[in-house]
Amino acid sequence: MDCYGIIGYPLGHTFSPGYFTKKFADEGIDAVYKSFPLEQITELPELLQQQTELRGLNVTIPYKEAVLQYLDETDAAAKAVGAVNCIHITDGNTKGYNTDIIGFEQSLLPLLQPHHRRALVLGTGGAAKAVAYVLNKLGIDYRKVSRSGQPEVVSYDDLTPELISAHTLIINTTPLGMYPDIYSFPPIPYDAIGAEHLLYDLIYNPAETRFLSLGKANGATVKNGMEMLHLQAEASWQIWTGHYNPTV
Ligand code: NAP
Repeated sequence: MDCYGIIGYPLGHTFSPGYFTKKFADEGIDAVYKSFPLEQITELPELLQQQTELRGLNVTIPYKEAVLQYLDETDAAAKAVGAVNCIHITDGNTKGYNTDIIGFEQSLLPLLQPHHRRALVLGTGGAAKAVAYVLNKLGIDYRKVSRSGQPEVVSYDDLTPELISAHTLIINTTPLGMYPDIYSFPPIPYDAIGAEHLLYDLIYNPAETRFLSLGKANGATVKNGMEMLHLQAEASWQIWTGHYNPTV
């Protein structure tokens, strides 16, 4: 039987095993999805040798970047972002993809209005790089906002009401507000947010973070990360079954 799975560490509560196990049952797909908690990414070659029925893997924290050096090939978009969250295994050959890019783009596109020409990306981690890749692809000018104080990024202290007004797309890629830390939110001047704004939070638990509820209270359109999560999982399945047509 074909086997799919996820590598990461630890793998306590992860979305993908439940999603794929239900999908296989609902759609009558003769396959299993397993969790492979690897304490070190150096264990990956041995896993691939032992699990000969493996056709695909998802990759989660902390290996999305470190896994690249273990792959035979990497898709161009994943290489550009420097992170892989999906591996297709065919006849022992491994090729890495980044389906966060696909999930973010597909969930953002229906919400975009012509005036969403300038964006702020809160956070500079792995997910922010996937978001930046999509914004570049769509021709949306963006600034990264960070606590770091590096010269090329905006600091939270620099976020004036004018800057917020001028950037009508704001994307939270920080963990601020994620369960169980549900009362936190990115420190931005919410009073400057209005009906033209689209606030997108990559967090999906809770469904409405403080970032989103504060934006909504000022008339903004809001979007959480749940659709992105489902789309990135579905894109993995398209890749593993050979139905993926890269447009990124
Ligand atoms: P990450 O690599 O740890 O990056 C998060 C970034 O947020 C950090 O680089 C940091 O940027 C900033 N940050 C961290 N702690 C902060 C704090 N206390 N205050 C302000 N900023 C803080 O994480 P990631 O992998 O990019 O994931 C980020 C979020 O996206 C997580 O909540 C994750 O669950 C979510 N996500 C969702 C999906 C989806 O499908 N919906 C997919 C991927 C990720 P600075 O140091 O520059 O400030």
